Amino acid sequence: MPMYEYQVVPDEQGCETCHSGFQVLQRMSEDALTQCPECGAKVRRLLFPVGVATPKTDSELKNLGFTKLVKRDSGVYENVTRTGGESRYMEADKPHTMPDFSKKIRD
Ligand SMILES: [Zn+2]
Repeated sequence: MPMYEYQVVPDEQGCETCHSGFQVLQRMSEDALTQCPECGAKVRRLLFPVGVATPKTDSELKNLGFTKLVKRDSGVYENVTRTGGESRYMEADKPHTMPDFSKKIRD
């Protein structure tokens, strides 16, 4: 279930909770809340569910440590976030072309 963030609408008094924004776990199919559960002020749902990232550029993804593979052909994927020793194309039947995760996982 995605977590949604709500915030009091600008012209409402609100309380501490809805002023700083609060998060609610909801099903995608559930209607958005319209009122703060604490004070009843009008709230609006912020556009993107928290934790569902907005699209990032390939270089941002790379800096964040993600690996992004783009399908180029049947069984062939381009590793658009490749680093140093990684091969540009990953082919399904060639294990040495797989992204090198061991170099990225350090923590
Ligand atoms: Zn409130």
